[in-house]
Amino acid sequence: MSSVLFPKGICNKIDALLRDFWWGKKKRKVVLYLKDWASMCKPKSAGGLGLSRTKDMNAALLAKLGWSMANMDNKLWVSFFAAKYLKGRSFWNIKVSPTSSWVWKSVLSSRELLSKGICWKIGDGRGLEVWDNPWIPSLEGFKPSPISQSGRKFTAKSAYWLDQQPLFENLGPLSPAEWKSLWNLKIHERLKLFLWKIAWGLLPTMATLNVGFRVNSTQCQLCNSGVKTLEHLFIECPITRIAWHLSPWPIRFNTISPLSITDWIKLILDQADLLGCPKEEERHLTLFADICCDMIWMKRNEVSRTPVQVDPIKLEAHINQIYTTHLQAKAVPSLGSVPVQRVCRNHCGDILFVWAHQFSYEDPLIAEARAALLASSKAFESGLSSVFLEGDSLNVIQAIVGFPEEVFWSITNFARDISILLSSLQFWHASDVPRSCNYVARNVAKWALFCNASGTIPISSLPAYVLAEVAEGYGSQGL
Ligand SMILES: [Zn+2]
Repeated sequence: MSSVLFPKGICNKIDALLRDFWWGKKKRKVVLYLKDWASMCKPKSAGGLGLSRTKDMNAALLAKLGWSMANMDNKLWVSFFAAKYLKGRSFWNIKVSPTSSWVWKSVLSSRELLSKGICWKIGDGRGLEVWDNPWIPSLEGFKPSPISQSGRKFTAKSAYWLDQQPLFENLGPLSPAEWKSLWNLKIHERLKLFLWKIAWGLLPTMATLNVGFRVNSTQCQLCNSGVKTLEHLFIECPITRIAWHLSPWPIRFNTISPLSITDWIKLILDQADLLGCPKEEERHLTLFADICCDMIWMKRNEVSRTPVQVDPIKLEAHINQIYTTHLQAKAVPSLGSVPVQRVCRNHCGDILFVWAHQFSYEDPLIAEARAALLASSKAFESGLSSVFLEGDSLNVIQAIVGFPEEVFWSITNFARDISILLSSLQFWHASDVPRSCNYVARNVAKWALFCNASGTIPISSLPAYVLAEVAEGYGSQGL
């Protein structure tokens, strides 16, 4: 792509493959393209996703070769082409010969794009064809120069965006500043994309589908009333409003309605004016609002497949749980510590103790081994007679139960100490369990990290959602 001009048909095919991949099209599966590819290839600040069209990217990369030819860079291939094709003539004026190689034709094809962004810098006048070459920067049509008007160096990226200037028009529902604000949000990328889809109205609601297809009903499945538009789903639906009313930010939409979906997105991006939200709260409200929309959309999809009565209280509780998880995920451990946690249960599965620690940065395998050692020490100190030790690190468990050929040297000493401690008990058994059975321990780790909790943690201080997986019958872990 960076050395030859791709035929238009090939470029279109590549774009079609990329587009199908983006929209999740599979063989024999019909997909609704709710937005044209060219719009999605606009810059993010212009309402697009900043994707690259193959044809444009090909042209931008070829422009780099053209730029080298225009500058007569000290490169072997430049000297070769200059000797073979230019023969002292100007790169800008030489005509394309049908007998020229495809590569040379490709290089010459870049002149059109190059001429959009460069102009001649007048030196001694040699090599400049006054009547043919653009050389006055302020006049339209005056272009090439080995030095661009702004004095910047040429890059394929700058050439690409120069070619995209016409696409900067028609920004859609938001201003460039608002689009930038959306993409600069400190939230998960998937949530940003979800907001982008809402802003453009790209979610396939029944009302949207009804425009191009005949659907049985456009009624909202959450409340069984109202036409399911995006405005209804995210703003007007009684289920949505109850969920919001129960949330930490009980927005009363009837006091600020009527809102269009664009107004709603703007409000999510900047709540200060409409809601009077304190600056420090804005970030959290944005995250919550985005998650709220996401969960409502997922619930809508769920009831579309399997119609059930939606309980707004449960829905709000789920939204709150996901919101808390996102908040905790943002509290990423610093590069210097590894959080470990242990959970101790009795023979009935009831949790007896929970511990959380953060070790200074080291190999995660060592951290796992240290966690197992601490758990064993605690079991020994507590006077337990029978212990099942479970963990999701197969290497650590194998080291403890004694598979010498499998032991990593870095955890050999830990494994030996653990074996000595456990051997003093009446009964012990160590086994590895899938990571999916470690929900409680992982939840505790996240929670402890978020709350900066360390050491022995009272069970009563743990939020219900941290232990929720126990109630739902998931596996056990820890000691
Ligand atoms: Zn509804």
